[in-house]
Amino acid sequence: MTSPSLKVRNPATLEQIAELPVASAAEVAAAAARARKAQRPWQAKSLAERAKLLYRFRDLLIDEQERLADIVTAESGKPRAEVYGNELFYLCDVIGFWAKNAEKFLRPKKIRPHLFMFKTKKVFSYHYPLGVIGIISPWNFPLVLTAGDAVPALMAGNAVLIKPSELTPLTALFVAELAQKAGFPDNLLQTVIGGAEAGQTLIDHVDMIAFTGSVEVGKQVAQRAAERLIPVSLELGGKDPAIVLNDANLERAANACVWGALMNSGQVCTSIERIYVEEAAYDTFVAKVVEKVRALRQGASDEEIELGSMSSEGQFKKVQAQVDEAIAKGAKALTGGCANPNLRGLFYEPTVLVEVNHDMSIAHEETFGPIIPIIKVRDADEAIRMANDSRYGLDACIFTRDKQLAARMIDQLHTGTVCVNDALVNYIIPDTPMGGVKDSGSSRRHGVEGIRKYCRQKTVVVDRLGLRNEFPWFPASRKKTEQMRRLINLLWRSGWKTKFRSPDRARKAPVP
Ligand code: NAD
Repeated sequence: MTSPSLKVRNPATLEQIAELPVASAAEVAAAAARARKAQRPWQAKSLAERAKLLYRFRDLLIDEQERLADIVTAESGKPRAEVYGNELFYLCDVIGFWAKNAEKFLRPKKIRPHLFMFKTKKVFSYHYPLGVIGIISPWNFPLVLTAGDAVPALMAGNAVLIKPSELTPLTALFVAELAQKAGFPDNLLQTVIGGAEAGQTLIDHVDMIAFTGSVEVGKQVAQRAAERLIPVSLELGGKDPAIVLNDANLERAANACVWGALMNSGQVCTSIERIYVEEAAYDTFVAKVVEKVRALRQGASDEEIELGSMSSEGQFKKVQAQVDEAIAKGAKALTGGCANPNLRGLFYEPTVLVEVNHDMSIAHEETFGPIIPIIKVRDADEAIRMANDSRYGLDACIFTRDKQLAARMIDQLHTGTVCVNDALVNYIIPDTPMGGVKDSGSSRRHGVEGIRKYCRQKTVVVDRLGLRNEFPWFPASRKKTEQMRRLINLLWRSGWKTKFRSPDRARKAPVP
């Protein structure tokens, strides 16, 4: 019997570019066993030794950038400029970031107990690698969401098994090849090819799953991981709002919104997917957006273009259905509104939609495509109410010159991140955590959380004095109980100490 295979297509030409065998359950298990063996000596290496290999890996990525761009563009349909500008740029930067900062984030920390009684103890917090990390990735950033997530896991001392999307497996295979060339231990970074079944099997053999993808699959991943009680990080979908207020710099807002909505053909988890514009700014803003969208060029990846093809036929059909439904319910397409008739692959024309309302799925379901729905609102309060009317909560953008108002809106937005007078930039600043709330997931990439999630934390307490016995130990006695009661009263009964305590010690949030 022949094993099942996976056909990889170029979405811009619809031509098949590769056929790969799908990993069987036994092959996934064997890959995990090999990774486990490779991980132990890797954990024993110093952070400096791990960093050295990552730098060599980065040099190879840069040496092989042309081939890398060929592979990414062929399987995703995105413009070549975006491979360099968004994928490779990010990956090169985060390799340096994790190589330099892992020591600071992971070094053993001495903790000073707050209570005087415990000053007789030394307390430490340690971080150890979890072992083998499974990374399950979507197709929209074949490099960033595979290698980009693997780097902190490797730096923390883990082995990594990547299961890339069945639509874009070739980039991850090339990454594993380059890692091998860079001198990483055999089997430390491997790729498992397949779809849902391979993903489910992977969960059964690893020590942690880092999943990026849709909400629906995220729930299935969490359920399977729960059976083994392994940690799971979930980076899920979004329906990110932008709010443009009357006093905004409308030229900057329009440029940011067009880029934020259409970069990678709108196939970004933090894409701007709905724009709420205050009444007085509405006409000017819409005119600017339409003008800028009309100037965009769409085509094959090696041309001078801003927009490539979409990557997934399923998403292409979903976007088409959402736009058709919106138009049937009264929305107007000021540009696009259909597939590009001049191009053969999965090209949907960049579409500006107005007269959109929240009864239309385009306003509340995730749209992974080049669509800009614009909604007129009375004021900032109405914009916030509509922005929060969503099951998602990934990123949001606010465009205003009023810093106090922006600060109030930041407090009110139910999202994991907010950009003020900017778009999409949160993801590419690895110094700070990035992630969502509500159905967008609860995990964080980047910052200290972005590497510690690949670790198990251990607390160690060491006695300093070596006394023969300690007060709470056996034997119990009435006298000891009475002493304990007195101690509790002395330490914590409200009294003279609390009168001198400041009522509000909370520090005010900084104004942006
Ligand atoms: P998807 O959920 O369909 O698939 C993601 C991955 O999961 C693929 O590798 C797929 O093969 C695998 N998979 C599918 N079913 C599985 C199962 N039952 N068990 C285990 N693995 C399974 O998502 P997609 O269509 O590839 O990607 C688009 C989604 O990803 C969008 O919702 C987007 O918002 C989200 N995304 C989120 C972020 C983020 O950082 N929050 C980043 C990029 C994309």
